[in-house]
Amino acid sequence: MAMVDPTRPARRGLMLILSSPSGAGKSTLTRTLSQRETNLDLSISVTTRGKRPSEMDGVHYRFIDRDAFDLLRQRDELLEWAEVHGNGYGTPCKPVEEALKAGRDVLFDIDYQGTQQILEKAREDVVAIFILPPSMAELRSRLVRRAEDAPEVIARRLDNARDEIARWSVYDYVIVNDDFGAAYESVRSILAAERLKRSRAVGMAAFVETLLAEKVG
Ligand code: ADP
Ligand code: 5GP
Repeated sequence: MAMVDPTRPARRGLMLILSSPSGAGKSTLTRTLSQRETNLDLSISVTTRGKRPSEMDGVHYRFIDRDAFDLLRQRDELLEWAEVHGNGYGTPCKPVEEALKAGRDVLFDIDYQGTQQILEKAREDVVAIFILPPSMAELRSRLVRRAEDAPEVIARRLDNARDEIARWSVYDYVIVNDDFGAAYESVRSILAAERLKRSRAVGMAAFVETLLAEKVG
């Protein structure tokens, strides 16, 4: 059984969602956060998209075929799902539910369609951050520099970027990722503050009761 620390009241985990048009830097932010932060699980999505050279199955995504994706949807095993750039993407429910119950936070790199679905299901548990590029020219050069997608894929991602950017007002916070270090610090500050929110501190009432009952001389 887990030890209960009386000075750390139990809390429910939160869902930290990072979205951006492709190339604005959310994967880099997500990776850095999950390496440096404790008590933060990365949600591994399933996708029907082909694996990029730098990606590993089960680490960046679970790469599955269309039939397996459709089956997960039919069985209602996805917390949200969307078609993005012609491929299916989705978030398996189970690991998320388990983490939140255990008081661990979960980090998501998903698009605005998935964000909207999770907001409709669990508004109170969600902190949604949108990452913007400093300019469209910089967005293009980041996609080219990343050198992981074919030229026609980059062109399609740039076409879609304007539609995605137009969804910025769905989000709780918006950060312009110009200087990476500054953008990372902004995300970290948001996470630190949101973790302290009273509504997540499910054990706080009991803690306060104990505090008030304590006799001191
Ligand atoms: P996304 O996940 O939003 O598609 P990535 O995180 O893959 O974007 O970033 C796209 C490219 O831009 C990567 O090569 C990454 O190293 C680079 N990048 C990310 N943030 C910055 C930044 N603030 N300044 C310059 N390059 C960046
Ligand atoms: P990429 O192919 O560049 O990895 O991701 C393309 C887009 O799909 C990104 O905007 C990314 O955030 C989004 N995405 C990745 N996983 C999911 C998911 O599980 N659900 C949804 N809705 N979008 C996802």
